[in-house]
Amino acid sequence: MTRLLISTDLDGTLLDHYSYSAMAAEPALQRLRQLQIPWVLNTSKTLAELEPLRRQLDNSHPFVVENGAAVYIPLDSPLAPELALDPGGRYRRKTFGPSRRRILLALEPLSRRYRFTGFAALTSERLAGLTGLAPDAARQAMSRQFTEPLIWEDSRSALEDFASELSLLNFQVQRGGRFTHVMGRCDKAEAMTWLVEQYQALWNEKVTSMALGDGHNDVGMLQQADIAVLVRSPAQAPPEVPGRSDVLLTEQPGPAGWNDAVCATLQRLELGT
Ligand SMILES: [Mg+2]
Repeated sequence: MTRLLISTDLDGTLLDHYSYSAMAAEPALQRLRQLQIPWVLNTSKTLAELEPLRRQLDNSHPFVVENGAAVYIPLDSPLAPELALDPGGRYRRKTFGPSRRRILLALEPLSRRYRFTGFAALTSERLAGLTGLAPDAARQAMSRQFTEPLIWEDSRSALEDFASELSLLNFQVQRGGRFTHVMGRCDKAEAMTWLVEQYQALWNEKVTSMALGDGHNDVGMLQQADIAVLVRSPAQAPPEVPGRSDVLLTEQPGPAGWNDAVCATLQRLELGT
């Protein structure tokens, strides 16, 4: 039997781009719960945003925050018991990226030469207005530890210059669905690969990874996964996934496409049929 590990983006992938609902993916999620297949939320969202979402989605698995900057492992999980607790004491944590404080220090001089607005300069009311998030959700989105999302207000070529300047300082710039993220040299792919290794060690079996995403910040994860799914977006053209000709592009957008891809994969791998 194949041991499957699913790593999924949230906004525009498991969650509808406009309504943030995962309802259309519920049939597949129920199958995964029955089959006890881990589905790892791997997102640009923060710990504060993911905690209520995991409860809503009835997800008890490890999760990846802020574009691969850290993996949180619930205390009742047998994975990676050697890891230290996170500052809140409710998870074990593996970090891959530098702190947000270091990123803000690096951005400060650049803000005089490029036009952008970082989350640090926004109020939660303004963010709520920009994203349609509820005020509480906007506050959770602003509670960041490892990345700084920006609203890019300068040209595309200025963004390239900005990214090369930051790259000299060992930071990187990734374009997400709505924001441009400045972060350390870590990504969703590295966190996914690390988790695959942890599950392989735990199960003592080869793990097949399946990744689902819709944006540029998902490309690395799609390149690395054994099974790669691009979920169609109502807001942007699907990104290129260099080096892969076997990426599945869903017919339907968001959670409906997610549902189709996961159900089809379970069937193809003869899991629970
Ligand atoms: Mg997305």
